[in-house]
Amino acid sequence: MLKTYRGSCHCGRVKYEVDVDLAAGTGRCNCTFCSKSRSWGANVKPEAFRLLCEETDTNDYQFGTMSGHHRFCKTCGLHAYGDGYVEQIGGAFVSINVACLDDVAPEELASLPIHYADGLNYNWPNSPKITSYL
Ligand SMILES: [Zn+2]
Repeated sequence: MLKTYRGSCHCGRVKYEVDVDLAAGTGRCNCTFCSKSRSWGANVKPEAFRLLCEETDTNDYQFGTMSGHHRFCKTCGLHAYGDGYVEQIGGAFVSINVACLDDVAPEELASLPIHYADGLNYNWPNSPKITSYL
């Protein structure tokens, strides 16, 4: 079900609102970035995302194909969301960090479907052999 959630970094400097159906699926990935940051994402279209602080409250990190902007709070360093453009997933997107949502009950988090992506091998539609550590 489409719901509006609030998300924030640890210190609260970075905050946002997002309209997302988490039950439609969330994602974890074994790429070099996601595995080190333990990223747990859900993608939405940019119109479903409202940043409630200034983008200048974040630092932007890019790597690899440079198609994604990984946004970090300048104060606490937490990766609260990212955005970018990837043709294969429908163009412009915002990826929220599910772990940064403030108003989700543990029961709801525990019930969310997770797609494990083999991003390390540029094979996102398929899962890596081992997923339990992601
Ligand atoms: Zn912060």
